[in-house]
Amino acid sequence: MISFNEAQNIILKHVKLLPPETRLLAESRNCYLAEDIRAPFPVPRFDHSAVDGYAIRAADVASSKGDNPVSLKVIGTVKTGDLACDFVTPGCAIRIFTGAMLPRGADTVVMVEDVVFTNDSIQILTPIKTNKNIRRTGEEFAKDSVCLHKSMKLTPAAIGLAATLGIQQVRVYRKPRVTLVITGSELVEPGNTLGDAQIYDSNRYALTAALAEIGVEHILTQTSKDDQHALQLSLEQALHEADIVITSGGASVGDVDYVKPALQAIGATIRFDSVEIKPGKPTIFATLEDKLILGLPGNPVSALVTFLLFVKPALLQMMGCTVESNIVHFASLNGTLTKRTSRTEFVRAKSLLEDEVSLVTPCIGQESHMLGGLVTADSLIIFDGEPRTLTNRSQVRVLPILWS
Ligand code: AMP
Ligand code: MG
Repeated sequence: MISFNEAQNIILKHVKLLPPETRLLAESRNCYLAEDIRAPFPVPRFDHSAVDGYAIRAADVASSKGDNPVSLKVIGTVKTGDLACDFVTPGCAIRIFTGAMLPRGADTVVMVEDVVFTNDSIQILTPIKTNKNIRRTGEEFAKDSVCLHKSMKLTPAAIGLAATLGIQQVRVYRKPRVTLVITGSELVEPGNTLGDAQIYDSNRYALTAALAEIGVEHILTQTSKDDQHALQLSLEQALHEADIVITSGGASVGDVDYVKPALQAIGATIRFDSVEIKPGKPTIFATLEDKLILGLPGNPVSALVTFLLFVKPALLQMMGCTVESNIVHFASLNGTLTKRTSRTEFVRAKSLLEDEVSLVTPCIGQESHMLGGLVTADSLIIFDGEPRTLTNRSQVRVLPILWS
């Protein structure tokens, strides 16, 4: 059996970046950029006011005091979106609004709250520095500088910045097409009546949701009874339509576990068929030409944990993400933990901050069929090494559960 790290490395070694494509910015959410995006103009593009107020010359009010205010004549208004045509001459002010172009001659803006308005004039009670409340041309990005880097994720903020630059289309890596192959003769779709000894198929829903969370858009599903021939047909169909096929169930070594023999029968190369982890030991990774197949265990917790550990990093790498996927934190164990195998255990846990120390509490329900524990968890404690007990307040390594 191979270790968690070895398994992850084998998968990632086989992952190929999908080709770039052009997308409308409006449809690029959660894509990863295939190119740097540069500013076609300085950002901000023109000097403008950060507040509602009056554009003035700082020198005019240098001597202002509460008992000796300076009075400036208001000679015009510049609204947001209007060209600032007037010139602020000595002793004068121009009314200005947030985002409006700074008129020539002005070197500072006094807030409307800080002046007393009378007839056609304003009175200013205190001096104001130059450049106050002014957003200068190019202060955030110079023209031609890189604003968004290749392989950045198009988050809401990144999409907003691209739109600021007037960009309507972006070059991003194509998103993977994924087909789920859900195996198990005992499975019934929610909405139907269960027979004795049947259960509802939860992995289809959980895995579809997990795929959608990381931005996968093309998700198809095949279902198969525990029958090798039927499974082979499903796998062939799935491999025809998808970049990556994810199977659920049937990955172990039981008599009705057909994923491995079916993959072998259709010519796939098994790269590994079990990993030294808990949950998720019966995880299979296979390749067929440039297609990847990840065979996840059927137990619902195992399916989702192996999704996080193996499928998510593979999909993100295909989509162009270069961010490290195993960012581990250290925390203090709240309670005790015992392991009976030498497998690396991923203990579902909930974290909280107490006196600035991060505490993690193992969730109730650690068995691999108990989704309730995973529902309440926000982290996985990585408990590796030989069988042993960790005492209360032991330092542990923690992998946050990040669905997206
Ligand atoms: P398997 O990996 O096929 O041996 O299944 C292990 C356990 O997970 C069994 O108790 C199955 O009934 C259950 N199981 C398998 N597939 C699913 C599924 N799609 N939804 C819910 N439970 C499942
Ligand atoms: Mg099964």
